[in-house]
Order: sequence, then structure tokens, then C-alpha cells
Amino acid sequence: MIIGMDDTDSNEGMCTTYLTAVLINEIKELGNIKGMPHLIRLNPNIKYKTRGNAALALEIEPGPGNDKSIIDTATSLMNEMADLECENTNPGIIFLSSNDINIPGLKNEIEQFMYRAIRDVLTINDVDSLIKKYHLTHSRFKNGRGLIGALAACAAVVCGLPDHTYELIAYRLLDNFGLPRVIDRGSVFRADEKTYPGTWDTVDRTNNTVVCAPHSPDPILFGIRGDDINAIKQAFSIINSEPVGLTLLYISNQGTDLHLVDASVHDIYDERSYKVNGTVLDIPKTISGGHVFFTLNQTGCIECAAFEPTKGLRHIIRELIPGDVIRVCGGVNNGTLNIEKLEVVKLATHQKTINPICPSCGKRMKSAGKGQGFRCKDCGTNSDTVIKLPVKRNIKAGIYEVPPCARRHISKPLVRSSDPRAFPSR
Ligand code: ATP
Repeated sequence: MIIGMDDTDSNEGMCTTYLTAVLINEIKELGNIKGMPHLIRLNPNIKYKTRGNAALALEIEPGPGNDKSIIDTATSLMNEMADLECENTNPGIIFLSSNDINIPGLKNEIEQFMYRAIRDVLTINDVDSLIKKYHLTHSRFKNGRGLIGALAACAAVVCGLPDHTYELIAYRLLDNFGLPRVIDRGSVFRADEKTYPGTWDTVDRTNNTVVCAPHSPDPILFGIRGDDINAIKQAFSIINSEPVGLTLLYISNQGTDLHLVDASVHDIYDERSYKVNGTVLDIPKTISGGHVFFTLNQTGCIECAAFEPTKGLRHIIRELIPGDVIRVCGGVNNGTLNIEKLEVVKLATHQKTINPICPSCGKRMKSAGKGQGFRCKDCGTNSDTVIKLPVKRNIKAGIYEVPPCARRHISKPLVRSSDPRAFPSR
């Protein structure tokens, strides 16, 4: 049986990953937990999300006659733990049996549903029509919007992911919930030093920040992400902190860029994320607050932005000039693409013009008036030839990214890329 869950938290606390960890503890006697729980990041631009738009799923082989106990335990735990008081919390839970999975057409439809949940905007009707069509067992709280994420997470277990990473999450003891987190910062930097690039986004060295611990009042103490499970476990063993409660290793689509779709500027909609090619149309301008904007020209134009939290990426963007051929990746809101990654494909050759040197005295000649060439004031020599010099560019062609402290959970860090043009930010 696959159990998918979503939408249990609020800004006041809770987190669906914690519900998953507690649930696994409660049902592990009722069956055999198979594989790792799935932590699936959905469309990062969705307005309903509390924080990172995560949905969760786990697989259990129920012991004989235990199906109902598992369903009842999961449903009552969600009822107990979800922050139902919060207006924006609408939990949903879906139970897919092995019979459900074998219904012709289901796999295909839920896989498509998962990609739409990651890349597009769905409605509660979209999930309800599949629940109805395939008679899926589920529990809904309030408007049940969480069923969208719940079904998408189930699909990741059933259909697999084209790329995956791992995260080991350490949860706080109940008594410490809401108190300031006690984590030895130096040990986090040491853990990163020993295990990068098997782990990534533990710290942000350039901005001198710990990235792996949240600041919100949720039950997570810290989470170590990476591609190498041994490196993740090693990092965990190096970090000194307050006592850790539950720990759980997840398989995930974090750090995979699964949210990005290739698009032309005419095919771009708010609340989605894209990869777009084009040329820089104007000189990037910085507005108050340090946010940087420029226009990307393709067969039409789109405004691109690097907001202040993207830190060093703005320095790269400020070096762009009209004519540079680039590719940008990011989410679109209010018609503006917020850059997560930038590939400088080809730098425009920019030339500055200077007045010629007088061949007799070697001094710089002056303009003789509009359209009349140049004249040397001292010798009276005339010339029509202006000198063109290439302007030195301060950036190189290559792929640049936001620093770890500004990265979206689903965005792929360049350290995961084998592309030799990548300049990972660290
Ligand atoms: P949590 O820890 O509770 O999962 P979160 O930051 O991940 O917190 P949620 O509180 O789950 O965000 O809110 C996201 C809501 O948006 C959920 O109800 C989820 O089902 C729904 N949702 C996710 N992706 C989409 C989508 N592509 N279209 C429409 N709704 C979506």
C-alpha cells in the first residue's frame, strides 16, 4: 500500500515530513515498510504553499488483515497533528493498494498528474476526478486541497523519478519545539567541508550562512541533502546539536530542476517555471533594495529579475550588456522571470570608439564637428578614421546560479551538473 499525504502545516508549526516520520513509527508493527519515504517538491510558485510545497509518500506491505488499521492510524494521526485551525491548511491523504496500481491506465494518468503538480497549476477537481474514476481510498480534511500533493507523491513511488537525491532529516525532541535551535555552527561547516560534494547546500560559504537548519518554528532541527547516502550519514555524525529526536532518510526530487520546462516567451505563464533562450536587450538596472532587472529578447520580450536575496548572482547579471546571448531558468510571477540559473552562451563583442592620434605630434585629435571627422588643434592635421577598441568583459561564458542560501528546494545545484561550463556557487 502506498500512502500519500500533504498540507498539514501552517506558519505556526508542523510539517508533513514530521507526520511521515511519526506515522512510520506507529505503523511499522502493522507491516513491512518498503524502501525510503518519498519527499516530493511540487510547483514552487504555487500560492497555496506554506513554505517549500512538499508532499510525502511511503510504501508499506501490510501484514495480513492490517490494511484497515493502517488507514485508520494514518487518518487519525493526520487529524491529530495537522494544524486544522489554520485557514490555509487543507490536509489530504490517499491510500493506493496494489490492486489500484494494477488498474489499466492508472499509472499513466497519475504520472502525468505528478508532472502537472510539479510544473503546472491544478485544481481540487483535477484530483477529485481521478479519485472518483479509480475509486481511490482517501481522507479529506476541510477542502482537501492536500489531496493534490498526496496523489502526486503516490505517483512518484509508483512511477519513479527521472532523477533523485536524498535528504536525512533530524527532528527535534517534542520539548524543544518552538525554542531557539541549538546547533554548533562550526560543526556544520566541518561537516560540509568533509562531505561536499557528496552533500550540498548544508552551508553557504560565500555568504557565511548555515543553510541546512530552518528558521521557522517547525519540528525539523536540520536536514542534510546530497547524492551520496554515506556522505550524508557522515555529515550527520559530525554535527553537534541539541538532542535529536526522530531521524528519517528520504528519497527526493529536491535538487533536480524537474520544475523547469523549455519555453518561448510567447508560451510563458505566471506561477510556472521555465528555461528561456534569448539576447539581452538593455543594460541591467539596479533599483532600490538592490534588485536587478533587464529585458530578455527572443521573438518577444520578457522582464528578468535577480532579487536582493540572490546575492552574488546579481554581480554576474550586472555585467551583461545588450547582445549577450543567454539562457535563463526561473519561475514567473507577475510577468517577470525570477532567475534561478543563468547560462551566458555567447558574450557580445562590445567596442568603444576613441579619437585617433595625430600622426605628426602624437597627441589625441579632437572632433572637428558633427560628421566632419577629427582635427589636431596644434598641427591642423585632419583624419576621418575613428579607432575601435574591444571592451574587456568581466564575465565569461558559462553557467551561473543563485547561492545555496537563495536556492529553491527543487532547483538543481550546479555541483550536481557534469557540464564543464558550470560555475557552482558555494
Ligand atoms: P507542508 O509541509 O504542509 O506540505 P508546504 O509548504 O509543502 O507545507 P502546503 O501547506 O502543503 O505547502 O500547501 C501546498 C498546497 O498546494 C497543498 O494543498 C498541495 O496539495 C497544493 N498543491 C501543490 N502543488 C500544486 C499544484 N501544482 N497545483 C495546485 N495545488 C497544488
